[in-house]
Amino acid sequence: MTSFAARRYDTGEPVRISLEGEQIAAVEPMGPLEDLEPLPYVAPGFFDLQINGHGGVWFSDESLTSDAVLEVLAAHFRFGVTRLCPTLITNSFEAIHDGLTAIRQACEREKWSDQMVAGCHIEGPYIAAEDGPRGAHPLEHVRGCDWSEFEKWQKASGGRVRLVTLAAEADGAEDFIRQAVASGVTVAIGHTAATTEQITAAVDAGARLSTHLGNGAHGTMRRHPNYIWDQLGEPRLTASIITDGHHLPPSVVRSIIFAKGTSGIVLTCDASGLAGCAPGEYDYHGGRFEVLADGPIVVAGQRQYLAGSGQLTDTCVSNAVTMAGLTLGQACDMAALNPCRLLGIPVVTLTRGSRADLILFRYGGSGTRLQVTAAMLAGALRFGELPGTC
Ligand SMILES: [Zn+2]
Repeated sequence: MTSFAARRYDTGEPVRISLEGEQIAAVEPMGPLEDLEPLPYVAPGFFDLQINGHGGVWFSDESLTSDAVLEVLAAHFRFGVTRLCPTLITNSFEAIHDGLTAIRQACEREKWSDQMVAGCHIEGPYIAAEDGPRGAHPLEHVRGCDWSEFEKWQKASGGRVRLVTLAAEADGAEDFIRQAVASGVTVAIGHTAATTEQITAAVDAGARLSTHLGNGAHGTMRRHPNYIWDQLGEPRLTASIITDGHHLPPSVVRSIIFAKGTSGIVLTCDASGLAGCAPGEYDYHGGRFEVLADGPIVVAGQRQYLAGSGQLTDTCVSNAVTMAGLTLGQACDMAALNPCRLLGIPVVTLTRGSRADLILFRYGGSGTRLQVTAAMLAGALRFGELPGTC
C-alpha cells in the first residue's frame, strides 16, 4: 500500500492518504501540525475538456499516429492533468476520422491512456464561417451539421466522442443537437454568431456548454443583444473559459464567474498543438501560426486572433485564483469536478473508494504559480515523486 502526507486543496487540512490498487483506500486527518509548509497540496487531478495537442503535435493532424497520441497525453501529466478530452478542430472528414482512429488505437494499446482520455472533443467543423467567430479554424472545411458524417467519426473513435462544439446557427443544428444528446454526447455552443432565438433553440434542443465563452467572437459587435450576453444569461449553459491571461481580461473572467456561479464554470487551457514550442513561426495545415515570446499563440502577422493557448492547465488554475479572487478549492473544482459533472462521468474526490487520479503541488497563494510535483492516474505515479512514501 502506498501512503503519503499532504494538505487538502479545499480545506488546507493535513491528511494522510493511502492508496490500494487504483483507488483511495483511506484519507485520515493528521491532527494539528506545527508547520504545514513542508507538505504539498493534494487535489483531484485536473480534467481539461479542450486539449489540442502539445510540442508541435495536433490531435487534428491527418498524420497523427498512436505513438504521437501517447506522447502528447504523457506530456500533460506534468501540468496536473490526469484526464482530458483530445480536441480535434475543423478539418476534412478524413483528417478527423484518421485522428480519432489514432486516438482509439492509442487507448486500445495502453490502459493508462484509455483511463486518461475521458472522451474526445470535436470542435467544429459545424461552426460560423465569418472572420472572428471562426477564430483560427480553416474556412475551407467549415460546413453545416452532418449526422451521418458524425456517426462515422464516433465509430472510428470506438464510441469515445463525448463532446461536440458547434455554432447554434449552423445548418441543421437543432436536429443534430437532439440526435447527439440522445446518443449521450454533450453539445457545446462555440465559434458562433447566432441570434438570441438561435441560441435559445440550441439550448432547448439540449446544448449545455458555451465553449471558451468570450473568445471565438467578433472583435467588434452590437452592444446588445449579442451572442455573448445571450449565453452569459442562459442558466442552462455552463461556460468554459480560458484563463491563460491572454484570452480574457480579469474583469471578463470575474463577470462570467459571477454570472454562472462557481458550479457553472469549467476552466480550460485550450492548449494549442504548439504549446511547449519555442517562440517563432510555424506552418500547420495550410495556415501560419506564431508562438510569441510573451506567451500567446496567434494566427501569424497579427495579435487579435489567438490560436489556442501556450499556457497549460496548471497555469490556468492559478491564474483563475489571481484574476477572479477565487479560493484554491474553487479553482481546482472548476478544473476537475465541474467538467466531470457536465459530461456525466465519475468525479474524483478525496474520499475512500474514489479512483486515485491525484495531483500534488506547491502553491504560494494568489499571484503565484502552482507547481505540480506529482501526478497519479488510477493509483499509478505518472509524473514526479510522492513525498514521505512509506
Ligand atoms: Zn475554439
